[in-house]
Order: sequence, then structure tokens, then C-alpha cells
Amino acid sequence: MATQQQTVPTITPHRGKAILVGGVIAPIFLVITIAFVALIKMREQAEFRIAAATQNLAQTIALTIDGQIDAIDVALQAVADDIGENTSSEKFSDSEITEMLYRQQSRLPLIDHLWASNERGDVVYGVGISNPTPSIADRDYFLKQLSSKGQSIFISKPVFGKVNKKWIWVFSRKIENRNREFKGVAFAVIFTDRVQEIFDKIKMEGGGSIALRDDNLGLIARSTYEKQNPIAIGDSKISKPFEEMLSINMNEGTYSSDGTGPDTFIRTYSYRRSEKYGFLVNVGLSRENALADWRQQATIIAGLVLAFASAVIALSLTLHRAWNRQKHDMQMLIESKETLHEAQRIANLGHYTYHVTDDRWESSDVLDNLFGIGSDYVRDAEHWLALVAPESREEMASYLKEIIAHGERFERQYPIQRQSTGEIRWVSGLGNIERDANGVAVRMSGTIQDITERVVAEQAMRERTDLLTQSNADLEQFAYVASHDLQTPLRNIISYSQLLTRRYKGKLDSDADDFIDFIIDNSMKMSKLITDLLEYSRITSQTRPLEPISASEAANQALANLHHELEESEAEVEIGKLPLVLADTPHLVSLFQNLIGNAIKYRSEDRVPRISVSAIRESVKFWQFAVSDNGVGIDPEYHSKIFEIFQRLTPTSDVQGTGIGLTLCRRIVQRFGGTIWVESNPGLGSTFFFRLRDGSET
Ligand code: ADP
Repeated sequence: MATQQQTVPTITPHRGKAILVGGVIAPIFLVITIAFVALIKMREQAEFRIAAATQNLAQTIALTIDGQIDAIDVALQAVADDIGENTSSEKFSDSEITEMLYRQQSRLPLIDHLWASNERGDVVYGVGISNPTPSIADRDYFLKQLSSKGQSIFISKPVFGKVNKKWIWVFSRKIENRNREFKGVAFAVIFTDRVQEIFDKIKMEGGGSIALRDDNLGLIARSTYEKQNPIAIGDSKISKPFEEMLSINMNEGTYSSDGTGPDTFIRTYSYRRSEKYGFLVNVGLSRENALADWRQQATIIAGLVLAFASAVIALSLTLHRAWNRQKHDMQMLIESKETLHEAQRIANLGHYTYHVTDDRWESSDVLDNLFGIGSDYVRDAEHWLALVAPESREEMASYLKEIIAHGERFERQYPIQRQSTGEIRWVSGLGNIERDANGVAVRMSGTIQDITERVVAEQAMRERTDLLTQSNADLEQFAYVASHDLQTPLRNIISYSQLLTRRYKGKLDSDADDFIDFIIDNSMKMSKLITDLLEYSRITSQTRPLEPISASEAANQALANLHHELEESEAEVEIGKLPLVLADTPHLVSLFQNLIGNAIKYRSEDRVPRISVSAIRESVKFWQFAVSDNGVGIDPEYHSKIFEIFQRLTPTSDVQGTGIGLTLCRRIVQRFGGTIWVESNPGLGSTFFFRLRDGSET
């Protein structure tokens, strides 16, 4: 697959911050701002509504009272006119006037009584006047009318009634005769608690209040929703915000109390002064209750904003985390791809994917380089075959066909001819076949590695090994033929020398006898040498299969073969418990025989030779044997040399030997898959160790 330049979507800290601000903080800020503005507007509206409600109520009440007073005034005027006229004409009796008064009074439910006095202030007309007649000569509503020039209604301050012992509010009109002389006062009395009852009937919400004050702000009546904290009638004390507002506008206004008023409610108040009669109606509604809805809405909106902000933050955090993880994974992927690519480049390992159904393959840069092809090379099966070296093309074509049809894995070493240079290279191709549900091959992907150097080296090695094997075989053949063919003439020399001795011993001179003995002796040695050489060459040329052999039996056979030597040397031999080993009998016997034979041969003259043969288990597979003696020992300097052919430490004349024995032993042990070595103390003795494969398992 051609490596493409990978780009990682990197986020600079600056850009990351911008995204965070743009994506998270900005919308949250926007929503909070909108919510804040909406809440302020809603609060303004709520406040506007409460102000409007108090204003409307105050105006309605003021107009209603105005209307009531108008009606009272009409009645007072009618009564004053009739009584004034009567003082001149004396048309009606007192009782008739009283009846007239009563008629007027009964039309006005608010009025408690409608009475009239004479010019001295004695109440002479009206229903229910006590006896002696009460005097109003000291009342402001009498004195005011007495002293006034014109005709007008007078509204008194609330006074505590002498007769009824109740707070009353009094309206009066002057009575004049035809000559406009003062003849008394007609007056209507209202109990302030009646007014309060009317106020009580007005439907108010919690914390609401309605107050009626006279033109001097003296309280006439007050009603609150809770019917609490009554203020004394006549009290003209008012709250500071009310006072401030009145100083701005005497007749109407709206203000908020600060909770320091007669009760602790914080209210929005609106007042309205009657233009005609000067009284003042003040209506208050609890801000607490009026804003309750707004507060509830504000709580819901704040909750929604909070939920929105939390959701946005949580979402952005999740996104951010996922983003970071993805970035990290991408980085890791690219790094691992790069590492893989680098490793493949170093190993000269290319990879490919072959889309079987499309007959199209993709290859990595390393593979392209290996094949010596460019990016424009047509990548299909036919063009892959064109890259295979001509002599292998046919074979590879049928192999590919076979693999695609039935195989699971492509695994072949084959020569290719590089497109760019034409040189022949060896590659190792591997590939796994993917099949669909119907078992049809859809894809094969794998690697192709240049193994030319290895193949060349292996080939060279094979050639060298073949050469070596051949020359070894030749040598062995030569040794065998030479020693075998030498035996016959040598036997003849020995036979004829012996014949010479038999026939002519003592008949020739003494030198001749010695010479003949010398010939026989050396011929015998030569024969031994040839026998040993023959045996040596046979170890490899006439191999028998390895099988489990009893080492005890082999050792005992060796002892039997050495019967004469043992007897002659009076050696003491001890054979321990020996195992089954993988070997062949003649060679194993020969091994023991050589080692025990040497132990006898190289014994110390001053002591009885003691020889022991033993074995210990070294590992699951190997036994370690030891053949030790108390002989002359071997200088450490020669410990490895003695295993070489014809190497002897003892002069030929002293001890008989050919220098082949230990070489033979090493060859035998090696053939059995083991090793041999020696440990020795010169003058004290030697131990020959060798390792053989265990034969009990096989
Ligand atoms: P040879 O025919 O001389 O015995 P070997 O190959 O068997 O040839 O031995 C080589 C040399 O190793 C011998 O000449 C001898 O000097 C020395 N050698 C072998 N076995 C012993 C032993 N058990 N004790 C002392 N020296 C030994």
C-alpha cells in the first residue's frame, strides 16, 4: 500500500480555547443574558401591574365615596332648603320635618342619622333625638357653618360621638331663611366602622390594605386583608415614603413602603385625593404576593438556565474528552504505523493486499522498491506473475490458483526478476486468505521479504557441506581400502617372517635372529594400527541405528574382552549400577574397552590398579558416566590433546598403543549425541567423563 502523508487534526491551545469560548461559554452567556433581561422585563411588568391595580382600586374607591358624599350632600341641601323655607313660612310642623329628614336618611344606607339643629345649636329635628335635646353648638361642623358666608358642605374630622360613643364622620350644611339669616345646621352622621365594613367587603389579596383619610390625613377608616395592626381613628401619622410622595403630588401617586409603616408589610401603594371633598383613599397591595408569580417564574427560568449550562458544560467536557482521546489514538496509530513502516523498511519487508474479486493488489513502498516497480505499474495477478523469475512463473501461477481455490495461506519462497534492474532476487511470500460466507476468496493480505542474501548463504553452505561430506566419505573410503588392502601383504610379511624364524632361528647369526624378531614385532604393531584405523573409519561409514543398550552389559563385555590384561595387571575393577543408554552395542563395548584398557595400560607401577565405572543422572535426558583410575594421571596441558588422532604422551616403546583409542572414544560418544572430557591429577589418577542420552524412554 503506498504510504500516504498522514495528517493529524491537531488543535493548537489557542484554537482549543477559541472553540471552548465559542462553543460553550458564549451560548451559556447568551442564554443567561436573555434570561436576565426577560426576568427584569417580567418584574417590571409585574410591578407595573401591581401599581396599576392599586391605582385603579384607589380611584374607584375615591369615586365611589365621592358619589356617596354627593348623595349625602344632595340630601343635606334638600333638608336645609326645606327647613330654611319653613322658618319663614312655618308651613310644616316639627314632626313633619323630622319625617322628611327620615325619608331622606332612609335613602342613604351609609348614613346613621340625618338631623338638624336650630340657630343655637340644639338638635331639634330628626329621628331618635334624645331628651333633653343634645347641643352641637361646640362642634366644628356647627361653628364652621355659623361663621361661613356662603353655602357649602362641611366635612368634619372624625370625632368620637357623644351620643353613640362611636367614631363618627359628620357632613353639614347651613340652614338659612329667606333673608339668608342663619337658622341652624342640617347634618349627616356616618359611623366610621360602617365605612370600614364596606372596605372589608372589597376583595383583597394577602397583605392588601385600604385606608380613608380626611383632608388633614387623619385616619377615618382602614381595612387590611389580615385585619391586623389597627391604626387609631384620627391618627394622622404616615410613613416616610408616603410623606415624600405627597410632597411631590398632593392628589395622586404611587409609592412603595419600606416595611416601617403601621404593619411590616412591604406594599405598593397608590393614593387618590377627592377633588371635591379633599379626602384621600390609599390602597396598598403586598409586593410579596404580587411578585410571587414572578418569583416562581424566575426560579423556573434560573433552574432551566442552570440545567442548560450544566448540560452544555457536561456535553462539551464529554466532547472534549472524546476529542482528546481520538487525537491520542490517532497519534498512537500513526506512530505505530510509522514504526511498523520503519521496521518493514529495515527488514526489507513489504506488504500487500490482493483484492481477489477485483483482481487488484495494493503494495507498500518497501514492496515496490523490492519489485523495482513504480506507482504506475499495473497491479493485477498477471503483472505479479510477470515479476516472478521466468523459470518459476508456471509453478507460481498454478500455486496461486490452487491457494485461491482451496488454500488458507500463501507460503512460498520464489525468485523474482526486478523490473527496474532485471536482477534475480529471492523473496519469501506470506499471505492469509479471507473468504466470504460461501467460502469464496475475497482478499489475501500478507508480506513479501527479500531473502536473497539468506538463500545465497544457504546455497553456499549447502555446497560446502556437500563438498565436505564428499571429501570425508572419500577419506574414509580411502582409509578403509588402504587399511583393508594393507592387511593382506602385512599378514604375508608376518607369516613369512615367522616361517623364517621357525626354519632359520639359530642357523643364521644372532643379528639375523634379532632383525627377524624386529620385523615381526613392527609388523604386529602395524597390523594393530591398521585394525584401529579400520575401526575408526567404520564408526561413520558403517553406522547402525541407535537403540536402548544396557551400559552394564556393554561394560561387562568390555571386561571380558580385557580378560588377559586384567589378569596380568591384577587390577581391581568395580562396575556400579549403569543405566540404559541410546547407543549401539559394538561401539559402546569399544568405548568401555578403550577407557578401561587405558586405565590398565597407564597404571602406576607402585600400586595395584583400581578402576571404577559409574553413572549419575545429569538431567532428564542425559547420564554422566565416569571411568576413573589410580594410574599415572595426565598433565592438564594435554587434557584436550589426547583426544586427537595419533596423539600419545607415552613413548611407543614403553606402552603399546597407537594414539587412536581416545579419538575413537570421542567419535563414538559424539555419534551417540554426547561429549567426553577428562579430569586428572598427575601421579594420582584420571577420570574420564562422558555424557550419553538416556535410553529408557525410547
Ligand atoms: P594410546 O594408543 O596411546 O593409548 P590413546 O588415544 O588411547 O592412545 O591415548 C592417548 C594418550 O593419552 C595416551 O598415549 C596416554 O598418554 C594418555 N592416556 C590415555 N588414557 C590414560 C589414562 N587412563 N591414564 C593416563 N594417561 C592416559
